[in-house]
Order: sequence, then structure tokens, then C-alpha cells
Amino acid sequence: MRESAHIILVSQRFNILSTKLPRIAIPVILGVIACMIVVTATLFFINTRDMLTELTIQRSEREHQQLVAQLDSLHGYVSTMDMDFDEKIFNDNRQRTYLQMSCIHPDIWSMGIGGSKPAPDYDNLSSGTANLLGDLNETFDAMFGKCYLREASFEEISARIESKKYLWAHIPSIHPVPGRRLGSGFGYRVDPINKRTIRMHWGVDIGASRGTPIYATADGVVSYTGWNGGYGLCIDVAHGYGFKTRYAHCNSILAKRGDIVKRGQMVATVGSTGRTTCSHLHYEVIVSGIKVNPVPYIDTSGIIFD
Ligand SMILES: [Zn+2]
Repeated sequence: MRESAHIILVSQRFNILSTKLPRIAIPVILGVIACMIVVTATLFFINTRDMLTELTIQRSEREHQQLVAQLDSLHGYVSTMDMDFDEKIFNDNRQRTYLQMSCIHPDIWSMGIGGSKPAPDYDNLSSGTANLLGDLNETFDAMFGKCYLREASFEEISARIESKKYLWAHIPSIHPVPGRRLGSGFGYRVDPINKRTIRMHWGVDIGASRGTPIYATADGVVSYTGWNGGYGLCIDVAHGYGFKTRYAHCNSILAKRGDIVKRGQMVATVGSTGRTTCSHLHYEVIVSGIKVNPVPYIDTSGIIFD
């Protein structure tokens, strides 16, 4: 006896449609329905995956554009820093020159210490991005080398300054009567007393009223105080390294022979003692026993010359 199956369909208006199918048709229909579900699910999965992939690609492209833009900006910034470093090299050379040190050769500055790192792998990058990254890495390497060299040079300069401090403290360098103008200078001149004879003037005259403070121009030891002929009341300071200073025509002396004095210490006051016509300081600088022009040994910034 052949079995059959009835399929009854009911519409929304309760119309009934009934059909009779052979029993074998049931698994076939179920199989078809199952296949349709599988195909639909597969298509849905593929579409969803493609959509997510597309979104990921779009996001990656946006990120890539932003990264390249930032990379470009960073490259410009680092390149500017690299160019600005030239000023630091100039200052380094100037400091080394002042300190009588040999300057670092430009080739050494440009060489730095780069080249020790292995070359990065840019195979997966576009040529534009790879070139940008390559330039950036090279500039970074150069900057790192220059910074390292500058730091080493700075330490060397600092050590040199430290070793020179003691010497500098003993070289006459400040104005003995700050703010006062420099008058009659070092060299031959008409004698200010007799107005006829040409005589050598072995120092510089600094006009100031009686009692104005006179300051030691460097560290040293007082080697003489007292009356010294035409110099009048006078104080000499020995600074070592062959340097000596003389302060003449003083009104009063505030130190005694053998006293240790520091640069900027008040040692006398201005007067008009000895062979002079008015109140002023006659200041001399003596180097290894030879009287020299004191002006190069005075900080002349802000001083008016007659
Ligand atoms: Zn003089």
C-alpha cells in the first residue's frame, strides 16, 4: 500500500488549500528547505564578511593617510631641528676658541655616531612611505650623533672652564671705579702739570670725586701701601701669573701689605694726592714687570671714553 502525505496551506483569510503528495516527497521538500537555509546563511555570512572587510580597509586607509601626514610633519620638524643644530655647533666652536681648545671638525659633526643600527625592512611599504621613513631614520641618527657629541664637548668645555677659573680670578678684568669714565689714557701726552714736556703716561686716569670707592680688579695679595712719590698715596696688588695692578693718588687706603683681597673688594678711595691737578684714580696694569695699557683689562661695556 503506497502511503501519501497531505500538505494543507491556510491563508490569512482561512482559505484552505490541500494537496496530496507521495510520502517520499516530504524528505525531498525538507532537504530543499535545508539547502535553502544553508545557502541563505552562507550568502549572509559572505556578505557580512565582505562588508566588515570593506569597513576595515576604509579605516586602515584613513589611518594610513593620517600616519603618513604625521610622518611628513615629523620629518619636517626633525629636519628643522637638524638645521637649527648648526647654531649649537657654531656656539660650541666659539666656546672652544675662547678657551683655546681645538674645534671639532665639521666632518665629525656630520658623521655623528649613526650607522650602527641595522637597516629597517621597508618591503611592505609603498616607495613614498619607505623613502619618508628612511629619511626620518637617517635624520634621527644624525641628530642623535650630534647631541651625543655636543654633550661630550660640553663636558670637555666645562672641565676646561673649571680649570681656568682660578687663573681668571687673578687676571685684572673689572672697572676699578665702576660707572666712571676713562680719561687720559696710556701713552705719550703733554705733561698736565707743566703743560710743555711730552711724557709717557703709564696708566689710565679715571675721574671721580674724593672718597669714591676703588675696587680691586682681581684676586690677589696687597704688595705695597703708602706714599710713593708722584703717585701719592698708593696701593699695589700682586695677582700672580705675572699680573700686578697699581691704584694711585688715593685719598685713603683700606688694606695693608700682605692682605688677601678678592676681585670687587674695596681697597682704597679716590683722592688727589701726589703729582696731580684734580681728584682721580691713576690705574696701572703691570704684566711680568712691564706696564701695559689697562683698557684691554677693563670690562668696557657701558663705559664712556673721553
Ligand atoms: Zn695718570
